[in-house]
Amino acid sequence: MSTMYCFQCSREYAEDVSACVECGVDLVEEAPTPPEEVGTADEAQVAYEMHDWSFEARSRAERLLTEAGVVHGWQGPMLIVREADEEQVDALVEQAEAEGDATPSLDPDVDKIGYAMDDWTDDARSALVTALNLNDVRHEFDEDGELLVAEDDEEVVDAIITAITEKLALEEELGEATTEMEGLQLNDLLGDVRGLAQKLVKNPGDAKATIAIVSKAGLLADVRTPFGFDSRRWAAIRKGGADMKSVLSDEDRTEEDVVDAAGTLRGLLENVV
Ligand SMILES: [Zn+2]
Repeated sequence: MSTMYCFQCSREYAEDVSACVECGVDLVEEAPTPPEEVGTADEAQVAYEMHDWSFEARSRAERLLTEAGVVHGWQGPMLIVREADEEQVDALVEQAEAEGDATPSLDPDVDKIGYAMDDWTDDARSALVTALNLNDVRHEFDEDGELLVAEDDEEVVDAIITAITEKLALEEELGEATTEMEGLQLNDLLGDVRGLAQKLVKNPGDAKATIAIVSKAGLLADVRTPFGFDSRRWAAIRKGGADMKSVLSDEDRTEEDVVDAAGTLRGLLENVV
């Protein structure tokens, strides 16, 4: 059975899956090129910010670039190409835009509500648009940058906004993660932390596990969202690591505190490794 890939997040799928559950875009047959590997080290890159494109339009751009044999990668909804290919890519991006609606648009006749987006960062906006597309919420941004949706979608949009806002608040509380970790190293860390958490659930007085998990959970709390992870879920895992470490650093902790924090952390890592 061959594997399919999400061109945006590199997540792998079985061949009978057609779109990425995380990004909404169509899957492709070839493993995508990581954005840092587009061009040689001394070749300049250019980026096309496409977060306000529909995922159908981004999928079209991906297909046209692949058909034309243009080296390219994606950083989420941002397309990365070599500067040397800029002219050709401009033309292909234009074609992708012309072949259908680039942005899902609202029915002009429905009652709409607006959301001010003034204090939203680009990343937050991009996460919002992805979530709206995944939930089939038609939307537009007006000339002031305000988000417009149909009144009927208010409930689902409120829920999406709450989830994204909570994630951002969590990230702010934890601070920006600085450690990049992938592959085996990441799997080992996640497996170790889960195993140690399991030991503490059974025996919260386990001194060896306590020492080992303090450093590993602290490290976990500083790992940036790895490729293929939902950023909201990852923020919760980081928080679980940070809480574990802080409970164990508290001299007045009770065994119950340790079991609670370890149980939560183990639960967060349940289906991850
Ligand atoms: Zn994806």
